[in-house]
Amino acid sequence: MHSFHYSNGSLHCEGVSIADLAEKHGTPLYVYSSETFRDRYTRLDDAFSAIDHEVAYAVKANSNLSVLRLLAGLGSGFDIVSGGELFRVLKAGGDPGKCTFAGVGKTREEIEYALREGIYSINVESEEEAAFISQVAGELNLVAPIAFRVNPNVDAKTHKYISTGKSENKFGIDFEFIADAYERASKLPNLNLKGLQMHIGSQLTSVSPFVEAVEKVAPLAADLKEKYGIEFFSIGGGIGIVYEEALASGSESWWINQPEETRPLTPEQYAAAIIPTLEPLGLKILLEPGRFIAGNAGILVSKCLYEKKGTTKTFKIVDSGMHQLIRPALYEGFHEIVPVTESAGAVESVDVVGPICESGDFFCQNRQVSSFMPGELIALMSAGAYGMVMASTYNSHPLPAEILVEGEQAKVVRKRQTLQDLVEAEEV
Ligand SMILES: *Cc1c(COP(=O)(O)O)cnc(C)c1O
Repeated sequence: MHSFHYSNGSLHCEGVSIADLAEKHGTPLYVYSSETFRDRYTRLDDAFSAIDHEVAYAVKANSNLSVLRLLAGLGSGFDIVSGGELFRVLKAGGDPGKCTFAGVGKTREEIEYALREGIYSINVESEEEAAFISQVAGELNLVAPIAFRVNPNVDAKTHKYISTGKSENKFGIDFEFIADAYERASKLPNLNLKGLQMHIGSQLTSVSPFVEAVEKVAPLAADLKEKYGIEFFSIGGGIGIVYEEALASGSESWWINQPEETRPLTPEQYAAAIIPTLEPLGLKILLEPGRFIAGNAGILVSKCLYEKKGTTKTFKIVDSGMHQLIRPALYEGFHEIVPVTESAGAVESVDVVGPICESGDFFCQNRQVSSFMPGELIALMSAGAYGMVMASTYNSHPLPAEILVEGEQAKVVRKRQTLQDLVEAEEV
């Protein structure tokens, strides 16, 4: 299933022409496909239908209110990492009773907000935090539902900046200390030990680190269920997606032609590999996918402004950059770059760069891409996750608009910022 495709030589999102959207709304422009969000959510949910489970979408991947509304409508829960994300979920009509709250640095205000709204669980990342949550809950005359996040010390084999399950990472409580942490927390007055959580990293393209982590932690989950009656085990997110050849990968023939060992991880494989270990636990299994649901549901559309030929390189300078899609600069993220109007097949080796005054402001370097010229539109594929949510106004560029497509309909789900918006909160 792929919602971005060429039709009569022109890139479309579902039934809507990208060139038409750019004409009407300008560039840079994020464009999302409702169909892809729905497909990914449903596929993962279905893959786990054999066991008691819930999909809690990781809001940080793409937190647009309309995206959250769409997912809430499918019955999704939400994994949040701040009070701001809880606010968004509530605004979008999400159920706080299906929210889990992760993160190493929750403030008093955030903890109070989450408890007052009745969220499902606060996922706690240190014993100090557990003690503080018990104190805050006591002051509110409430009992806080919590889970500890265990750091299982397994290698997720992903980029070091998005690996979270090794003991040198700041996340969770070391596997060796976790049993004692539960024991001490069980004596705190205002806590309800409700579950156990882990999340080993992001953009995992092989199932083996997941299997290793689940097999290592499952006996602990069984133990905690017996001792404290925990009801859920959250195995986190992290399922990787196809970035290279993202456009082609929508067609059946592409999948079949890939060598087996390089085919991307599917939800079905993921489920089949870990359900046998999870099922005997008799716990509710929480899944926290972000990238898997949102990544290939969006693109960033940009216009080429100039071509500059240097002694060693050709630079294509475009009207978007690291300020609007930081993944290449931040963790060497790859985005396929395609022309919006299908080209005749000429390719050239180029650096595609943005307008920002930083040498790290590039989308690719020395890459063979289909030729495009100044005035032409390009699409950065797979930009639905960790794209707009990380956008800034660095160099005082207004934030781009966001469009959500549904069949033949396109809706502006975030207006383009104006120059006035940029300075609205400031005073002279
Ligand atoms: C970021 C995060 C996720 C989602 O990760 P993806 O790689 O986008 O699936 C899930 N759980 C927690 C706790 C996270 O911090």
